[in-house]
Formats: sequence, C-alpha cells, structure tokens
Amino acid sequence: PSGLISPAPPERVTMVGILQRSRFFADTLERGAGVGLNPLNIVIDDVTGPVTAIIAGKPTLMFGTNSYLGLNFDARCIAAAQSALARYGTGSTASRVASGNQGLHLALEREIAALYGARDAIVFSTGFMANLGVIGGLTKEGDLILLDAHCHASIFDACKLAGATVKTFRHNDAADLERLLKEQTIPGDRTLVVVEGLYSVWGDVGVLEPIMRVTKAHNAVTFVDEAHSLGVFGATGRGVCEAQGVEALVDVIVGTFSKSVGVIGGYCVSNAPELRSLRFQARPYLYTASPPPAVVASATEAIRLIRTEPALRDTLWRNAKALHEGLSGLGLKLTAAPGPVGAIAMPGIRAGLETWRGLIARGLYVNMLIPPSTPAGEVLLRYSVSAAHTLDDIRTAVALFGETIEAVKAA
Ligand code: PMP
Repeated sequence: PSGLISPAPPERVTMVGILQRSRFFADTLERGAGVGLNPLNIVIDDVTGPVTAIIAGKPTLMFGTNSYLGLNFDARCIAAAQSALARYGTGSTASRVASGNQGLHLALEREIAALYGARDAIVFSTGFMANLGVIGGLTKEGDLILLDAHCHASIFDACKLAGATVKTFRHNDAADLERLLKEQTIPGDRTLVVVEGLYSVWGDVGVLEPIMRVTKAHNAVTFVDEAHSLGVFGATGRGVCEAQGVEALVDVIVGTFSKSVGVIGGYCVSNAPELRSLRFQARPYLYTASPPPAVVASATEAIRLIRTEPALRDTLWRNAKALHEGLSGLGLKLTAAPGPVGAIAMPGIRAGLETWRGLIARGLYVNMLIPPSTPAGEVLLRYSVSAAHTLDDIRTAVALFGETIEAVKAA
C-alpha cells in the first residue's frame, strides 16, 4: 500500500518483544537516513505562503505540498475560518451523533452534495477516517473486497477493519479484476471494488471505465477514492470520475479536504439511498469528534470556490504541464503524464537521498518515498504542483533539479 515511508521489519523481528521491535524500527530509520537531513523528519520552521516555507533557515520553494489550488492561503477561506472561529469557538468537542452536529457541518455536506449533484454527502474528520468508515461500515465478514494494488494505506487498513475477504488486482488492470470476479464464490452483490481516481504515489489516473463496466457486469458495488483528484479533474472539479464520464457507474465516492481544499477532513457522497445507513454504521463517524468549526467553514468556502472558479484549475494544469515538460527535458524518468502530483524514479536509495538533500540545500522541497511505500521497490522523488506556483517558480524548480542531478553525478 502507498503512504509515507515506513520500514518493514524482517520476519524474525516480528517475533520479538513489542519494545524491541519498536527499537528496530527507530534504528533502521535513523541508520537508513545516515548523516544529514532525514526525509521522515523535516521541520518546516515557518510557512510563508501556499508554496513557500523556511526550512533549515532557508527560504524554500515547496513542490511537495498537496495544496493543489493554493486555497489554504485564499483570503476568502481564511476569512470564513476566522469568522467561524470567533463565533463557534475552537472545537466542536463532540461527535456528530452527540452535540458535535452543528449547522456548519450540514452546510458543508450540502455544498459537497451540490458539487456532485448527489442526494447526500457525509463529512468525516479526515480522509483516512472516511475510508475506514465507509469501507468498514459497508462491508462485513463474508463479503469480498477487491482493490487495486496501488490503493492508499487507509484503504488497506479499512479492509482489515471490515473483516471481509480481501484480494488485490494488478494496478489499473480490468482483465485481472475480471479474473478475480469470475473466480469468486461470494456473490457479486456482496463484493466491493475499490479504486482511486488519481493514484497518489505515481500520480497516474485510474483507468475507470473498463473497471466499472466489469464490476457492474458482476453486479458488484463500485467505490472510488478521489482524494487527489477533487478540484483538479473534471469540468466542474468533481474528480476523475467526472473527467472520464463514469459517474453513473459509481456507487460511492470518497475524498478528502486535506489536499485541494486546503484544510483537513473527509467525505463520502452517493446517490444510493442505502448509504444513509453509514451515519449509524461508520464507527469513525460515530465515535470521534466532528471537525472543528474553522476547518468546516473554510472547507465549505473552498468547495464553493472549486465549483465557481474553474480558472484555478486552469492555472494548476498550465503549471503541471510546464513542470512535466521541464523535468522530462532533463531526461528524468517520470512515472505519469502531467498532473497535480507525480514522481521521478531514482536509480537507488543513495542517489535518491543525495538528490533529495541537494534539492533542499538549494531551496527546493519535494518528498522522498522508498519501499515498502512504493510499488516494485522503487525509490521516488515525489513532487506536486499548485495553482499558487508562478511560471517562474516552475522554471526555478526545473533549473534546480538540473543543477542538483549534475552535482550528484559529479560527486
Ligand atoms: N486516500 C488517499 C488516496 C490519500 O492519498 C490520502 C492521503 N494521502 C487519504 C485517503 C487520507 O486523507 P487524509 O489526509 O485526509 O486523512
């Protein structure tokens, strides 16, 4: 599963005591990173804008946030957050099914439902919890979940929580999914097929149409996580399902407010009336505090802007294409077509780490991902783009990549 870097302990280490095993993890991380900045322990000393920060005392261009539209610094989102903070206080201090169900939460749900033209939307406190809540709430022991091998860690964890039988199919491979659907003894209507709109490690889009068709041919339920695609893909910013014209084949969409929306929180949207039951079945909805008022008000404003200001998306795509073209021009091996997030495959951990550190020393931040968080044991430098970048920022980033890669080769 994808996610942040985490070392897998060898089998024998799993046999030792809890604290010893924890020490193994810590030692491996520290030894693995060697001397110098550790990709798992970067401190952002100050944030100076949606794509600028101070790291190790140095002004740094951020090409590794998920603020695809720059909305975390949008004056209207900040004003909405400030006014909610002053009026409703810092936190809701209770779950949605107790005293934490405020008018603000319902307004946000209405805004999301309006964006999707859907019957209902349910807001969760994070995207991770939306996946746990929806997958864990819908499926039970005896059901089958089939998921794309590149799905996010939260989806894998949700499957464990569900207690259902879980099988993965090859990434974006409808034929492999069909093979699994044909093999199964569990009936189609007790099967959930889970994919993503935009896969977060490689930054490649889901090939949704054939996957949805095969799933529906077996009468199974379709689920798409649009965490990285909300606000970025589709004529109205609903995501890859909208862009690929498959919304009618999708039973439930899940997404997050921690990327293009610029805050934190998650949601699910569906036209299936049966999904109303999630408000009583999703334990991460029932048993956790609802998101705080400032976050909810800001998210509501951001979703409204996603709906009403397509120019933000246009700027993001202009930047994404310019960065992709610049990096490809350096001869780098990119994992996907232009998009809000992508990765550069590095020849190994040492080259990856040296390049990553060299970029930071020059004032450019990207993320570094290593196995087991990456497919096929790859070492990846993962970048993201924002509508808040200028074309000058993109040119600077490409130049710094060129310079750093030459310096690492020469060393
Ligand atoms: N789904 C996917 C595909 C993701 O990439 C992420 C976060 N990286 C999540 C869910 C979890 O979202 P959140 O950060 O809102 O918990």
